[in-house]
Amino acid sequence: MTSSPSTASLPAADVPPITCILVVGAGTMGRQIAMTAALAGYRTILQDISADGLKHAEADLRTWSEGRTGKGKLPEAEAAAAHGRLSYTTDLSTAETADVIIEAATERLDVKQEIFRSLDRIAPPHAILASNSSTLGSSKVAEVTGRPSQVCNMHFFNPALVMKCVEVVRHEQTSSKTVDTVMALARSLGKEPVLINQEIPGFIANRLMGALQREALALAAAGIATHRDIDTTARTALGHPMGPFELMDMVGLDVIDFIAQATFAETGDPADMPDPTVASLVALGRTGRKSGAGFYDYAE
Ligand code: NAD
Repeated sequence: MTSSPSTASLPAADVPPITCILVVGAGTMGRQIAMTAALAGYRTILQDISADGLKHAEADLRTWSEGRTGKGKLPEAEAAAAHGRLSYTTDLSTAETADVIIEAATERLDVKQEIFRSLDRIAPPHAILASNSSTLGSSKVAEVTGRPSQVCNMHFFNPALVMKCVEVVRHEQTSSKTVDTVMALARSLGKEPVLINQEIPGFIANRLMGALQREALALAAAGIATHRDIDTTARTALGHPMGPFELMDMVGLDVIDFIAQATFAETGDPADMPDPTVASLVALGRTGRKSGAGFYDYAE
């Protein structure tokens, strides 16, 4: 992490410098994206409709930074400076001071469109509006704004404070200037952004992961190997940090099922059909680690 935003790495001349980032939605993703931006030196505003949600986000980020400073992984002065740059609000009119807005609100098109409509009205004309959505291509929110060329997906991975990848996905009208700015911004956050030149369901990472999960589920369903042995193979033969079943349990089987339903609704491809084993575990309330059980039992 750098201690100040590297404006030198941002594109030249006609792109206004980024000094203030607004993150909309303070849930799992938004809070960590905001802390990432604050640690990189940006004045950062974290906005949510829920005052309670903001309180939880702040408490969570303070616990996180205390943990890091306690282990000597983050200098106390840097943590304090980052918290000093980060403010919390329920007021979306703070968008009027933002150069880049990253929306990380609830995964519902109507919610996101309403946010983008408001942001378009409030944010300065040069501001870029990015969505962290995993399943909704940014053209769907760009269409409710008067600045579609300044809209794209900026897709972080969970946990956003740790994961290096950011998928920058352009839709048909996203300008090169927007893409260049967002790629440079992601680099200045200490990330390794990748550019996806066309909106496709699942982008890259979730498509690769989907292929692995489909094969793993098919092997287990056919009784060829247990989910435990399939996970062991992914870790010990392929060098994956966790196996596909362990990963699905961590992400949440309800989330896996939701993403599969959204992808299938969009593509109609039988290969994208939601998996029946995952659906039946969700129906039993076994949604993964967060519920104490999924493919594995975490009471063990
Ligand atoms: P979450 O449910 O943890 O948080 C969503 C937050 O949005 C909540 O705090 C909610 O109060 C807030 N919100 C709802 N409506 C709002 C509004 N109108 N204005 C402001 N805030 C509003 O969700 P999450 O897991 O953080 O996901 C957020 C986005 O990030 C989604 O688009 C999701 O696809 C994407 N994403 C999630 C993950 C993940 O692993 N969870 C990974 C990558 C991307």
